[in-house]
Order: sequence, then C-alpha cells, then structure tokens
Amino acid sequence: MAKPPRVVIIGAGVVGSALADELTERGWTDITVVDQGRLFTPGGSSSHAPGLVFQTNPSKTMTELATYTVEKLSGLTLDGRWCFRQVGGLEVATTEARLHDLKRRHGLAASWGVEAALLDPDQCAVVHPLLDPARILGGFHVPTDGLAKAVRAVEAQARRAIERGARFLGGHTVTGIGQSAGRVTGVETDQGFVPADIVVCAAGFWGPRIGRMAGLTVPLLPLAHQYATTGPVPALAGVNDPVLEATRPILRHQDRDLYFREHGDRLGIGSYGHRPMPVRDFLSPAEAPVMPSVLPFTADDFAPAWQDSVALLPDLAGAGVEEGMNGVFSFTTDGFPLLGEHRELAGFWVAEAVWVTHSAGVARAVARWLVDGDPGIDLHECDLHRFETVQLAPRYIEERAKQNFIEVYDVVHPLQPMERPRPLRTSPFHPRQRELGAVFLEGAGWERPHWYASNAPAVTPPRDEWSARYWSPIVAGEAAATRERVAMYDMTPLKRFEVSGPGALGFLQRLTTNNLDKPVGSVTYTLMLDFAGGIRSDLTVARLGDQTFQVGANGPLDEDWMRRHLPDSVQLRDITGGTCCIGLWGPRAREVLQPLTDADFSNAGLKYFRARRAYVGEVPVTAMRLSYVGELGWELYTSADLGLKLWDMLWEAGREHGIVAAGRSAFNSLRLEKGYRAWGTDMTTENDPYEAGLAFAVRMDKGDFIGRSALEARPAGPDRRLTCLTLDDPAAVVMGKEPVYAGGAPAGYVTSASYGYTIGRTVAYAWLPASLSVPGTAVAVEYFGVRLPATVRAEPLFDPKMERIRS
Ligand SMILES: Cc1cc2nc3c(=O)[nH]c(=O)nc-3n(C[C@H](O)[C@H](O)[C@H](O)COP(=O)(O)OP(=O)(O)OC[C@H]3O[C@@H](n4cnc5c(N)ncnc54)[C@H](O)[C@@H]3O)c2cc1C
Repeated sequence: MAKPPRVVIIGAGVVGSALADELTERGWTDITVVDQGRLFTPGGSSSHAPGLVFQTNPSKTMTELATYTVEKLSGLTLDGRWCFRQVGGLEVATTEARLHDLKRRHGLAASWGVEAALLDPDQCAVVHPLLDPARILGGFHVPTDGLAKAVRAVEAQARRAIERGARFLGGHTVTGIGQSAGRVTGVETDQGFVPADIVVCAAGFWGPRIGRMAGLTVPLLPLAHQYATTGPVPALAGVNDPVLEATRPILRHQDRDLYFREHGDRLGIGSYGHRPMPVRDFLSPAEAPVMPSVLPFTADDFAPAWQDSVALLPDLAGAGVEEGMNGVFSFTTDGFPLLGEHRELAGFWVAEAVWVTHSAGVARAVARWLVDGDPGIDLHECDLHRFETVQLAPRYIEERAKQNFIEVYDVVHPLQPMERPRPLRTSPFHPRQRELGAVFLEGAGWERPHWYASNAPAVTPPRDEWSARYWSPIVAGEAAATRERVAMYDMTPLKRFEVSGPGALGFLQRLTTNNLDKPVGSVTYTLMLDFAGGIRSDLTVARLGDQTFQVGANGPLDEDWMRRHLPDSVQLRDITGGTCCIGLWGPRAREVLQPLTDADFSNAGLKYFRARRAYVGEVPVTAMRLSYVGELGWELYTSADLGLKLWDMLWEAGREHGIVAAGRSAFNSLRLEKGYRAWGTDMTTENDPYEAGLAFAVRMDKGDFIGRSALEARPAGPDRRLTCLTLDDPAAVVMGKEPVYAGGAPAGYVTSASYGYTIGRTVAYAWLPASLSVPGTAVAVEYFGVRLPATVRAEPLFDPKMERIRS
C-alpha cells in the first residue's frame, strides 16, 4: 500500500481538530495541525462558541452533517467531562406565521429522519419551565438536539488524533502556501516551513486571508454576533449541577432572532437581531485583549434583544446582563459551508464557514473525500465551486453574507429571491419581458420570469397563503397556452459550454453515460456520474461538428468537474453569457417558425433530438428539437446581440397563432407532468441512474466511463425509487421536501412538486422504497401537519407515447 500523504491542517478549531481525528481514524496518520494561537483555546470562534446544536434544516445534507455531529460528540468525553449534552432543542412561536412554519419544520425533520414533536404552550412550559405559556403559541421539540462543549470537543478529538500519530503545533502562524508546478508543497509559518502533500484550510473566518495566499477566493464574510450572559436567575437556583451546566432544552425564539442556553444558574442569550457588523481587521492572539474572535460588547446593540428576552422569559427581569461579547464567525452568501479542493492548486483544500453544529459531519465528509475520493454524502450545496464568477465579487460577497446574517432565523420561502444586488444578470429579452409585465424571481444571479402579468388569468383552485407566494393563477393560463397553442420560454440562464478539439468526443464519452458517438446533428441526454456511480449532473449534448459539441449543463459544478478531467486536446468554453436561447414550444410552434426560415423544420426535416444550424430571418440560430415541457418545438440559440431580434420576429410571427411568453412556473409544472427530472432536487450524487429512473441514459456497452465499474457492482434491483405521485384532492398542493407516509409511518420525502394544470392535480416526485413504488399504492404527503392522501402513478403522466413531441 502506498504511504499515506503528509497533511497539514491550518486551524485547530473544532473543524481542524475533528478532521485530524477523522483522517487518522482512516489510517492517514502523518497529520500536522498548525495554529497561530495556544492549544486548545487558540482564539478562533470555537474557543468561545456556546455550542447550541439544532439539527433540523431545510437542507437534507446540513441536517445529516448535524446528526452525525450529535452522534459523534455524544460518545466523547474529556477527562470524564461531557462534550455533548443531549438536553433537546425547542423552537417556540409567538406569531401565527411562525407557529405555522414550525409545522413545516416538523415535516422537514420527518423527511430527514430526525425525531421531533410539536408541543402546545403548556407542554413547552413543561420541558422549559422558564417559559410563560401565556406568551407563546406553541413549539417544535427535538429531543436529540443539545449542547456541544466546543473547546472540549476540540481537545478530545485532538487527543485521539495525537494518539494515532498526529502533531498539533500551537504558536505557528501560517504566512504562505508552498507551491510548485500547480501542487502544494507545504505551508510557510513564522516558525519555519512545514512540508505537505495536502494542505487543508480550516482557518475559520481567517479563511479568505489564507485563500489569498493560495490564489483562491474563499467567499465568506466575518461578522460579529452578540452573545451575553445574565447574572444569576433566581428561578434557576439549584436547578443545574455545576458540572452538567444545563438541563433544559436549548431554546430558539426566532420571531425575535434570539436563542438561549443555560450556564448553571445563568442564561446565555445569543442575538441575530442587531445590525450586521462586518469585521475586516483581526488582531493576532498576542495582541487581542481576550482572543481574536472576541470583540468588545456593544451594549446598545443588545438592548432590544434584552427586552425581547425578558418578554419571553419573565424570570430574567431582575438578572440583568452580566457580561457580553461581539463574537466573530463566518457567513457565506447562501448560508452553506465551503468545502473542496482548489482547482488550480492541487492538494489545497478548504473546510470553511462550518458551524460547531456541522463540524464532525463536515470533517467526516472531507476525510472520506480525501481518503476515498468520495465524500459519501451529497455536498453540492456546500461545494467550494458552486458559485458563478459574478458571485465571487467582493461586493456581492459582502452584500449577500450580510443579508444571510439578517435572515438567519427568518421564515424563508423556497422561492424567495434575493433582493440585492438586482438585477444582476439579464438575458437580451429582458426589455420585452418587462414590457409584458414579467414577474421575475432570481436564480444564480439571473432574472427569470416566473409568469407574465399580461397573460390573462385563468381559473384555478384557491391556494393556501404559503403556496400562493411567488405564484399566480396566470401560470395555469401559460401552461394551457403551451399545451394548446404556442409559447416562448427564456432558456438563456441554463448553463452551456462549447466543448471542441480532437479529443472532444473521447473526453465526453469518458465523462458521461450515454453514447455520444453519433452523427453530427444528433442530440443526446446523458449523465455525468462520480466514481461511485452517483449522478453528478444530467447533460444535453448536441454534436454540432465532428469535433464540436454544445453541452447543456446545470451549473458551475459541471464546469469544475469537466475542467478537472480536461485533456490538452480539448477546449471548454462557457458560452452562457455570450449566447441566449428561446424555447419555442407548443402544437403550433411549427406554424410560427417555418415561415421565417428556408431550412426544413418539418418532422422529417429535423427529427426529435436532432440539431441543425439555420437562419431565422437574418438571425443565425442553432436549433435543437427537444422540449422539457413535452410539446413539439425547438430550443433556438443565437448570440446575445441578436437575441432581441429573434424574440421580436418570433413574437410577431406568433401573434396570429396566439403565442404567449411563459415563465418558469409553467415550465416546472409541464416538466413534472412529463416526468423530466431536475438535477440537484430530484437526484444527486446519492442516487444512481437506475433508482432515479434514468437507466435509458446509460449505455454499458459503449466502453468505459467514469462510474461504470461502480454501476456494474450495484445490486440488480434498486431498493428505493424516484416515484411519481399525484395528490388525490384536485385542490391540494405541496411544494417539495415534505415527508411521505405509508401505513402511518414516514417512508420517504418529496423532491419536486407542482400543480399539473393539464392533468388537474398536484404532481409530486418522491424517494420511496421500491416496495411502495408501485402504481396504485396509497400514501400520504404531510403538508404543514396535514396528511394529504396521494397515489403512486405510472409515469409520465402526460403523453406517455410521445405523440405530441414527435409530431
Ligand atoms: C458568539 C458566537 C456564537 C456561536 N454560537 C454557535 C452555536 O451555538 N452553534 C454553532 O453550531 N455554532 C456557533 N457559532 C459558530 C461557530 O463557533 C463557528 O462556526 C465554529 O467554531 C468555526 O470553527 P472553525 O474550526 O472553522 O474555526 P475556528 O474555531 O475559528 O478555528 C480557526 C483556527 O484557525 C487559526 N488560524 C487562523 N489563521 C491562521 C494562520 N494564519 N496560521 C495558523 N492558524 C491560523 C485560528 O487561530 C483558529 O484557531 C458561534 C459563533 C460565535 C462567534
């Protein structure tokens, strides 16, 4: 066996120490952890974090990272003292909106396998007697949540690592990253050079500074967050053993951006209600009066938080604030951590912007990623390379990270767009879309019309307030126009690349599952797998020349993966911003397009899943005959400068056929009726093509490709399947991520859902055990606490014989 690599971890906080433990456990024992501060309280965020661990998160990944942290830290002690106290977690509601949202959180917990209960005010006061039941409306209780003792967890994990051979060096400040020929060689410190094959930056909010040493943008913003401790609270006298510190659940009062924990007979109070306080200059451990991550308490900022605390917990009134701090930690632009390897500097990794809550989970995933080449969990939301270039602009990072601080406890709707900076990315059609009254939401910085006010409203079943947000009955009219007449969809924001060169075919064949060795003009739906056979992405690949392909992809992670495997004989160009695309779809699409062009767009002239170049009026287009809405039509691509001309021509020509501009909301409904999956929502690296219902895109006989051998080793019949459901009540709606129950017990969860306007009921895709994935099976989807009867259906629900799309 080859000797394991030498690893240097920068930062002996809760992340660095957990990573050293996880790596040494896997047999990588040549580990050096360096920290500028004194071990094991070197002065970063972990050295003072109050350590509340609430596991439930809208993200399945984040919940699972937290669940593992709880599991691991619960089994650790330091010299007989606890590292995790499972006191439970309680989130209370003081507003109807929050009370309603707690039901959604209860559903999320069920979806991700976390045991939880909804409590009435009296039950809340039983588990947390400081609460006055008259002041709350209810609560969400997770018995396995609790308190992590971060400093002890750091030391306990470090000791285990040290026993297996790791070294921890305090008082070593990293000043540079050694590099040669695109690889790291070690770290420069004020105490000398430490050689390494792999360097992991776990430097907390110092991450951007270390990143700059390696030529990498680490997009996080250090922000101060207030934490205060009360004086003795009479009602807590004698309640807590001094060693155990706390017995009552950790408490969240999100309506007022507050959280609480016990410290013996005192209460700790954290607040996110104050102004965002970015921190740009940090003192060294020697210079800092307390420690670098602790800034002086600004009492004025805390005053409203104190009043709100007393209003919730009247027993605090006489206790007062005894001490407080403005503690610093990292915020990212989307609230997720930053994990992964630098693309231009092999061996330089980051594990940044990680809460104590997720620390052990992150450390295990990164350790697996390093040792096995696979993190063992879907990390696409946390991947360092998930950002568009514009999202790495310093102004963008500052604006978005501050907003994330503000929203950290808000009820955030899954479709809620960012407010600033907008508009950021617009397609050439933007002026026309505005004229038509487009209602824009935002994705990856793009302005994306969800519906157009100018389209006449249609009659739809009434909706509840939550599902009616970012939605309009107009959507039904746009869906109907697409099925009955013809519609134009702005497909510009979909990421696309040109892949060219002598090695292009071989490269794409190796990276994807379907056979792309087809004549020029063919279009193929194919999958990119990881080495374990999990779905990294789904792509639409058009062969436009012998050595030229246009690849329709999902996002920056696709570019990252492709560039990591790119041979010298292939060029990869992101052409998204320089081009644009209109999806022209509907039974009358041909009548709109054909008169504008000499090229033959008849059924025989350009068959389904074929591409050609043509002129539409004066505009050169690449036309691809495919449709995610399941109707006849084409994706028409041209350069950005000609976009408006193309739009205007199609619009003019379409008027006599009743053309409409239609938005994402109709698109999403129509695609679900056709059973077209969305990567990242319906399937991820945690799923293989067979269970995701995508076996048709895998050609095992085409030769080798990444993930092929892993697929060969998979058992014949998957034991879970992505399954099509419809809700039995034609007026009922769900949104995605809801738990699915069978026989009264949780059996899976919804991925995507939308009302199907053609079929007249809600369509939901869900992961379910194969035994339940049988058409006709009765299940229930829980939406805000109500179990909605649903039925497993054969898919696709609409036009299964593909007669419309091939017409
Ligand atoms: C007031 C407050 C309350 C919080 N409450 C919670 C909570 O209740 N629950 C929760 O989950 N999270 C909480 N957090 C967040 C949590 O504390 C952090 O996210 C977490 O501790 C980060 O751990 P880390 O190991 O990444 O970083 P850190 O603990 O900051 O460790 C990074 C280390 O890198 C070292 N370092 C930096 N630069 C260099 C260099 N050039 N050379 C050598 N060493 C270097 C630093 O000295 C530091 O020790 C809170 C944070 C604050 C500030």
